[in-house]
Amino acid sequence: MKVVKFGGSSVADASQLRKVTEIIKSDEERKAIVVSAPGKRHSDDTKTTDLLIALGESVQVSGQNEDLYNQVVERFASIIRELEVSESVLEKIKQNIDQACDLLKTDSKRGMDAIKSCGEDGTARILSAYLNKRELESYYVNPKEAGILVSDEPGGALVLDESFERLYTLRERQGVLVIPGFFGYTLQDELVTFSRGGSDITGSIVAAGMKASLYENFTDVDSVYCVNPMIVDQPKELKALTYREMRELSYAGFSVFHDEALIPAFKEKIPVCIKNTNNPGGEGTMIVSDLPEREGYVAGIASDSGFINLYVSKYLMNREIGFGRRLLQILEEEGISFEHAPSGIDDMSVIIREHQLPLEKEEIVKERIINELNVDTITIERDMAMIMIVGEGMNEAVGIASKAATAFRDANINIDMINQGSSEVSMMFGINSADLEEAVRSLYRAFF
Ligand code: ASP
Repeated sequence: MKVVKFGGSSVADASQLRKVTEIIKSDEERKAIVVSAPGKRHSDDTKTTDLLIALGESVQVSGQNEDLYNQVVERFASIIRELEVSESVLEKIKQNIDQACDLLKTDSKRGMDAIKSCGEDGTARILSAYLNKRELESYYVNPKEAGILVSDEPGGALVLDESFERLYTLRERQGVLVIPGFFGYTLQDELVTFSRGGSDITGSIVAAGMKASLYENFTDVDSVYCVNPMIVDQPKELKALTYREMRELSYAGFSVFHDEALIPAFKEKIPVCIKNTNNPGGEGTMIVSDLPEREGYVAGIASDSGFINLYVSKYLMNREIGFGRRLLQILEEEGISFEHAPSGIDDMSVIIREHQLPLEKEEIVKERIINELNVDTITIERDMAMIMIVGEGMNEAVGIASKAATAFRDANINIDMINQGSSEVSMMFGINSADLEEAVRSLYRAFF
């Protein structure tokens, strides 16, 4: 039994949904289908989720924007018209959006999650109706009915363990089940969404709960590439990689798969296959537990910008008990989460995502660190990029760091920071954002 997830571009319009239908019909094992909200139909288009967020914000700020409301409704109406699905589906979708807009007037957090969920909910209702029209018995299954229980963290929910047992019972249900991705319900019955791109997470949770033999994740690329194809032309395709490698790569810029989506599938050892809706016959990329055979030790090179390096130094820091804790506590009290914290004898860097430390908070944080920790120096450097070289086999290989350092030297790029996680699955380099693309190309030449 397979669980299949279709991303935004796979359900962007009626013709894509027809392809999706063929894919589902071509394999009887495709039992549970998880869908995203309609994504972009062309590069200048807007994702339905972004339209819904803008609509939600308009309700909060200046009263419901009718133009946005009509745009959202038309996204669904045009699909329904073309697929000749019953008008009652559109009525239900509109009712959902109206209820979310009402809720927004009294409860902005809950209302925002409710309106964001309307995209995937609408797609699931349409697809299920269309599958029935195409003579495939199908049911729309709301995440509440499916048993997807989540923590009460609006816009950033985490799945609760109780969900998995409940999801297992879906195996007994008749027909093909279509479940909207991206949201679940708290124990108090409140609708809460995962973080952006979270339909991948739903797919993984459903696959784990139903103990599927495979989790297929359909997107719009033939496979995962070993490096961002926007930076390197026609890079090598990855036939297979491990969960840990995928987690590291997607954390650092590989946008094909949500970085939080791997854990549920990984725990149940369910292989994940990334495939292309526009080329379903292609092999795709498999994500598995055991290290696949490959040439060389490096699986991929990921890169992402938008980091800050908060650097402090203080003579004899190594002898000051509790320094690191107090530094991180200041960040905790200011509501800032950090990504990495490499340290030296007398100094420590804390790498933070830029949105965690907006300019208006910078002075407060700086003042507190100076006053409370008596540091000798403190600098906050913005515009930092991270490049990560990822590969499970790297822990046995000699010379990876030197090869990487040579690649940076060849490109005449200064490395600001090096960090190798204890897992040795990855090695990370901090550089100036302006050098990012050149550095990635140079590393690609060196390793591939
Ligand atoms: N529609 C949601 C988003 O755009 C979730 C998803 O597509 O996975 O973030």
